[in-house]
Amino acid sequence: MFEKVEVDESYIRIPKERLERFYIDVLTALSVPEEDARIVADNLILADLRGIESHGAQRFVRYFRAIKKGSVNLKPQMRIERESDVHALLNGDGGLGQPVSYRAMMLAIEKARKNLFGVVGVRNSNHFGIAGHYSLLAVERDLIGISMTTTRPLVAPTWGIERVVGTNPVAIGIPVKDMPPFLLDMATSVVSTGKFELYRRKNKRIPEGWGIDGEGKVTTNPDKVLREGAELPLGGLGELLGGHKGYGLSLAIDAFCGVLTNATWSKWVKNTSERDSNVGHMFIAINIDAFMPVEDFKERMRRMIEDVKRSRAMEGKRIWYPGEKGALTAETRKEIGIPVYKEVLDELNGFARETGVEELP
Ligand code: NDP
Repeated sequence: MFEKVEVDESYIRIPKERLERFYIDVLTALSVPEEDARIVADNLILADLRGIESHGAQRFVRYFRAIKKGSVNLKPQMRIERESDVHALLNGDGGLGQPVSYRAMMLAIEKARKNLFGVVGVRNSNHFGIAGHYSLLAVERDLIGISMTTTRPLVAPTWGIERVVGTNPVAIGIPVKDMPPFLLDMATSVVSTGKFELYRRKNKRIPEGWGIDGEGKVTTNPDKVLREGAELPLGGLGELLGGHKGYGLSLAIDAFCGVLTNATWSKWVKNTSERDSNVGHMFIAINIDAFMPVEDFKERMRRMIEDVKRSRAMEGKRIWYPGEKGALTAETRKEIGIPVYKEVLDELNGFARETGVEELP
């Protein structure tokens, strides 16, 4: 049984179905429509199943507070503002990010099935959780799926001190024959903001190279980064280890999700806890049949991955491909439950009491 992160006694295991029920019950108690609540729950559960602790139970805490504060439109009138056979632009009407993102990717998939490609942009949305969720919707249907989003500004540009760009994640999902899908699902910062929050919650120092303080100096204090400093782009400080490439990727995602969708780019994106955060997303579905029969493609993907995995590894190490650890962790956790950090569990149970929902064990 494999889990990609170590779990100690400060975590309690909750069966996946129980946690899922809990999210749906709390969200519907807050007046989120049942179907939307299910989509949000799916995203949170998938994150924790795949070992993405930053975006599972911990992230629900932020959603709950934002909803209570009234900063999310719980009954959005999502609408299509532009459309063709191969593209669309949706307006999320300030609702939760997951439901509009799910619908946008399903629309991209429908277009790709009929017309080979589907590109759907979303504006006026909110935090959509893990990007991989939407790419996997395409992969499950034997298509290639790409999902990306803007975030609020949290990252300093290369040689900059101020946080003006987002952690803007992208997820590229590709089906593979007889193996878990390829799923590269990553922030374009060194790590996601949720990881800083996790370290702060656990009172731990962050590794050197994740973030800078308000003066632009590298710090190991997660609180300093979150309050006054900035995260560093993928590749880290300066240009030596490629920080400019992470920064460039993040800006490109801002261009797709913020500029092209007529939403806004990260500098102006607001926190979920504020009204009109105006997050933008982009979803792309590619029908493999446009290039070759799907089964041939999946077999070629398998061979490509095996070539890499069979190459020589460093002592005591194993070569992984993107999506492999996440898939194995999910298999394990479906059986033995999702580990929830005790402090987070206490917060969730506080929400249960507030909404009259049964507490988690
Ligand atoms: P990680 O650094 O944990 O992982 C990034 C990718 O690398 C994953 O696809 C992972 O696959 C893969 N990977 C890990 N180890 C290896 C390896 N040894 N060899 C090959 N591939 C490997 O992710 P991040 O911290 O960057 O992001 C976490 C999540 O946060 C993502 O789901 C992202 O969508 C989400 N996010 C959401 C934001 C939002 O505003 N909505 C903002 C930023 C991030 P595997 O899963 O198999 O380990």
